[in-house]
Amino acid sequence: MLMDYQKILDEIYDEIQPELMRGKVADYIPALAEVPKGQFAMTVTLEDGRSYSVGESQKRFSIQSISKVFTFTQALHLYSKSLYSRVGVEPSGNPFNSLVQLEYENGIPRNPFINAGALVITDALISHYGDEYKTLETILNFVRSISDNTEITFDPVVAKSEMEHGDRNIALAHLMKSFGNFENDVHSTVMTYFKHCAITMSTEELSRAMLFLAFGGKDPLTGKLFATPSQAKRINAVMLTCGHYDASGEFAYHVGLPAKSGVGGGIVATVPGKMSIAVWSPALNKYGNSHAGTLALERFTTKTGLSIF
Ligand code: GLN
Repeated sequence: MLMDYQKILDEIYDEIQPELMRGKVADYIPALAEVPKGQFAMTVTLEDGRSYSVGESQKRFSIQSISKVFTFTQALHLYSKSLYSRVGVEPSGNPFNSLVQLEYENGIPRNPFINAGALVITDALISHYGDEYKTLETILNFVRSISDNTEITFDPVVAKSEMEHGDRNIALAHLMKSFGNFENDVHSTVMTYFKHCAITMSTEELSRAMLFLAFGGKDPLTGKLFATPSQAKRINAVMLTCGHYDASGEFAYHVGLPAKSGVGGGIVATVPGKMSIAVWSPALNKYGNSHAGTLALERFTTKTGLSIF
C-alpha cells in the first residue's frame, strides 16, 4: 500500500516549527547572511514523478555544496577511475574547508565533497572542457537536464560575494597547486566553483534533479542515462560516508540515507529504488549542515521506515 506521504510531510512540518530558529545562517558568505531564518521546505519525488511538498517548496535557495554531487557525477563520467589519483573517497573527519589534512596528505583531498575535493573536480572539468566558461555552461546544462528544467541558473551576486571572501578556498587551491594537484588558473577555477555553488533551486527542483541517483543513474521519467548503475552506487556511497563532512557519521546514524548538504541550508537525499528527497531550512548546525533539515529527514525515515538500513 502506498504511504500517505503528504500526511507524513504535514506532520513533520508541524513538529519541526520549534526548531526553525535554532542554528545560524552561513555568515561567512555575506550574501547568504541576509537570508532570514525560520524558513522551511521539503519535497519527496517518486519514481512516477508524483511529488509531495510542504512549506516554501517553490522558493529557490543557494544550493552551495549540493552542486558538488552534480560536478562529481560529471567528472566520474569523464575520467572514470583515473579521477581517484587526484581525489579520494574517504570521510575526512574534518570541517569542509579545512586546510590541515591537505598538507599532511600531499595535496590529495580526502573526498570530492569537502571544498578541496570539489575544487579539484572543477579543475578537472576545466581541463577537459578547455576553459571556465564552457565548463560552467556544461555544468549548468547538466543540472538543467537532470532537473528537466531549462531555467536553472546561478546567482551572480552570491558567487561574487563568496569570491570577495574566498581566501580560504583560494588558499586550498594554491596549496594543491604547490603539490602539483591543480592544473588551471587558481582564480578563475575558484570563481567557477563559486558560480556552480551559487546555483539556485527549490526543493521541488532539487528533489526532481536527484531522481536519477535514486534509480541507478537513469532518470525514471525521461529514461535518460546520467550515470551507470555502478557510478550511481559509488556516488550514493560517497554521499552516505562524506556528504555531511565531519558530521557524516552522525547523519548516517540518525537518518540512514545517502545525502548531501549545502551551507545554503539545503539537503538532498536518496532512498535507492524508491524516491529522492530535498529539504531546506537556512539555519545551520555547528558543522554547517541545516539544523531543521537534518531533523526533518530523521523524522521522515523514522516515520516511514525508509532508511537504507
Ligand atoms: N561555496 C561554499 C564554500 O566553498 C560551499 C560550502 C558548503 O556548502 N558546505 O565554502
